[in-house]
Amino acid sequence: MDIRILDGKKIAQAIREEIRQEVERQVGMTGKRPCLAVALVGDDPASQVYVRNKEKACESAGIVSVLRRLPATTTTSQLLELLSHWNQDPAIHGILVQLPVPDGIDSRAVLDAIDPRKDVDAFAAENVGRISQDRPRFLPCTPHGVVQLLAREGIEAEGKEVVVIGRSDIVGKPLAMMLLQKEGPCGSRFANATVTCCHSRSQNLPSITRRADILIAAIGKPNFVGPEMVKPGAVVIDVGINRLGDKLVGDVDFDAVSRVASAITPVPGGIGPLTIAMLLHNTMKAFTLQEGTSAQK
Ligand code: NDP
Repeated sequence: MDIRILDGKKIAQAIREEIRQEVERQVGMTGKRPCLAVALVGDDPASQVYVRNKEKACESAGIVSVLRRLPATTTTSQLLELLSHWNQDPAIHGILVQLPVPDGIDSRAVLDAIDPRKDVDAFAAENVGRISQDRPRFLPCTPHGVVQLLAREGIEAEGKEVVVIGRSDIVGKPLAMMLLQKEGPCGSRFANATVTCCHSRSQNLPSITRRADILIAAIGKPNFVGPEMVKPGAVVIDVGINRLGDKLVGDVDFDAVSRVASAITPVPGGIGPLTIAMLLHNTMKAFTLQEGTSAQK
């Protein structure tokens, strides 16, 4: 079967260019520039790379970024104090705390402390609730990136069987929710799916995943999804990013599954670049909400 490689990098570039143009339009209207504030606690090497990439992406979109590096010994209350200061600063439109935070920090308390109108990761309870009611303020970046990729590649989800492997609050659960909606972020053709969300307690996983017209893996286990788990002709979206030696690999065995699927995202170059593009989108949206240049409140 001829395999179609879904080029997330190219789609992300197009989205970033759209955002760059919108930023300049907003700057022209308001005389102000969107600003994203990022707190990085500790020295996790992967987090350092993610934060550097976010800073670079902001710069290329014309968005100001503020990075506060804090030592691993930072306490929850010290972090809450910083967030309270950022919540009140009108020059800061979006706030994120890079996860994971060191063990001593109460991550739930930290995420709850971010003003929901500045919560560009969309992890606050209010924003999650709004997503479940299909009236989102912000959408979590990785799941939104997946839906954008489907929409921009013209891969309809409406009426299809979609199986998501993984039920995390960051990826699997919100993604299942977004694909189940009547409208969803990109309209009804890219929502309205019959969605099954699997996890580590799911029984006989291959029998479920083989039903999928669109199979999405967000597990965190290298090459977990093999061809025996994929229906011939299915679209396979690989959200996983795993380090295997000096290589980055996804949750899907790319070479083997490519022989069965009709379309697949590569790792790297698939969903990863879209995640950052959607963070810029959310920062832009936070700006328009706070500056009163958006219809939504
Ligand atoms: P989590 O570890 O939070 O969640 C993993 C999920 O996979 C859990 O729901 C878990 O089930 C499920 N799972 C684990 N083992 C199995 C199994 N054997 N069978 C079925 N389900 C299983 O990970 P995240 O959701 O945060 O991330 C998933 C992957 O996506 C990671 O590789 C991560 O690096 C990547 N990622 C990529 C991003 C990007 O930008 N492309 C952004 C965010 C994440 P249970 O709930 O029962 O434990």
